[in-house]
Amino acid sequence: PADPVADDVLAHLRAYPDYPSPGVLFQDLSPVLARPGLLARVADAVVVRFGGAFDTVLAIEARGFVLGAAVAQATGTSLVLARKPGKLPGQVHRVRYSLEYGEAALELQRGAFGPGARVLLVDDVLATGGTLAAAGELVALEHGRTVGYAVVVAISALGGARRLAPLDSFALVTVP
Ligand code: AMP
Repeated sequence: PADPVADDVLAHLRAYPDYPSPGVLFQDLSPVLARPGLLARVADAVVVRFGGAFDTVLAIEARGFVLGAAVAQATGTSLVLARKPGKLPGQVHRVRYSLEYGEAALELQRGAFGPGARVLLVDDVLATGGTLAAAGELVALEHGRTVGYAVVVAISALGGARRLAPLDSFALVTVP
């Protein structure tokens, strides 16, 4: 069935070959964010998919902050940030991982949410799934429960959904 929000996202997604390194087809969401009202409609689609299942949104630095904030605001849920190393004060959990272009790590403040928090993980793009899998490890270290993963765009050839299975990963649009 037709999904006007997904169609609008697809129409405004711009792919850049060999950025930021050779062989990567970078999915740029800037024109999606620039389209008035579209971010709110994307957030609403995430809410329809996961509404009621989560009480906390964990948004991934940096582009995941945008959709994550919109989803938390739309649902009146708690917003927590998973950040690159050295950005969060106080005691943190750290998980290292590899991504499509390089090595990375994510941190989460200890005590960011209570034990048993039902956490929805939000990012802009799902590629190999390494980033969201690492964020899921952070949730487990903090004794939360990951209820699912939400992204604007999933790149199916990179197998992220399989890596995150059996947990539910929702992408508004999937590109090859
Ligand atoms: P991965 O861990 O491989 O699933 O990569 C996902 C993370 O890297 C997300 O935070 C994205 O912002 C970024 N990313 C990876 N590949 C791409 C791509 N082809 N286009 C845009 N962002 C990407």
